Amino acid sequence: MAEADLFAVETAALAQAFQVLSADGAPADSYYSALDELARHYQRLMRETRRLIARSDRTELELNALNVRLQQLSAELDYKARHDNLTGALNRGAVFERASHFLQKGTLSLIVLDIDFFKRINDEFGHPAGDGVIRELVARLNATLKGVGEIGRVGGEEFTVLLPNMDLADALQLAEAMRCAIADELFSCLPSRPVTASFGVSWSDPGSDFEDAYGRADAALYKAKHQGRNRVEEADLITQTEDSCINAASVTTE
Ligand code: GH3
Ligand code: MG
Ligand code: MG
Repeated sequence: MAEADLFAVETAALAQAFQVLSADGAPADSYYSALDELARHYQRLMRETRRLIARSDRTELELNALNVRLQQLSAELDYKARHDNLTGALNRGAVFERASHFLQKGTLSLIVLDIDFFKRINDEFGHPAGDGVIRELVARLNATLKGVGEIGRVGGEEFTVLLPNMDLADALQLAEAMRCAIADELFSCLPSRPVTASFGVSWSDPGSDFEDAYGRADAALYKAKHQGRNRVEEADLITQTEDSCINAASVTTE
């Protein structure tokens, strides 16, 4: 189907004007009427053009605003996909991703901590009070870290602190500072009962597997729980498999 000519009326007026111009001895009123017709169409075209330019400017502004909003939403979505919404800490997936990224090019100290007897806090004071403790605990970790490392929430009341390129002695000192920051002062959301946490700290070479770093820190945390809680324990430097125990035993007996 042939497309309709958007300027059919204007084209006809133009043709009429050319016809008058080319005709020898055309009467004066035919010039007048052709010019009048052309002027009216020209005026209308100018009006329409101004309206279209204004509309296109408005559309451009709206598109720019939509684009900005889209970028904001995409950043918010990205943030939500990587952070825990109760505390703002990295979520489990993001912790594993960041830690693996750090281990590709450097060493990593890893602190794993878990609130002591948290179930009792929930049971005695209710779940919302428990949530308040989790939030305040992360605030205290942040205040102690002062921008060093990255905090993650890997379970209900279990957290990690990733400390890229920090040696084990410094990481142990930092874990002790965090332990004190939690235990030494009552929580404002739970003023009637102290809150404590237990810590395990591992150190890994560049290229190490994060699962291994996490497993060793978790084993140290388990030890801290068993040795009375509210304490920091250092992880073994290598995973204690049956093989490594046998090898270690054979070395000491030689
Ligand atoms: P332990 O000293 O051995 O760590 O004892 P615990 O009671 O802290 O240990 P456990 O890991 O068994 O209990 C954790 C509890 O945390 C169980 C669960 O109901 C609670 N919990 C998990 N996620 C949340 C949360 O988001 N909010 C609250 N209020 N409680 C949670
Ligand atoms: Mg616990
Ligand atoms: Mg736990």
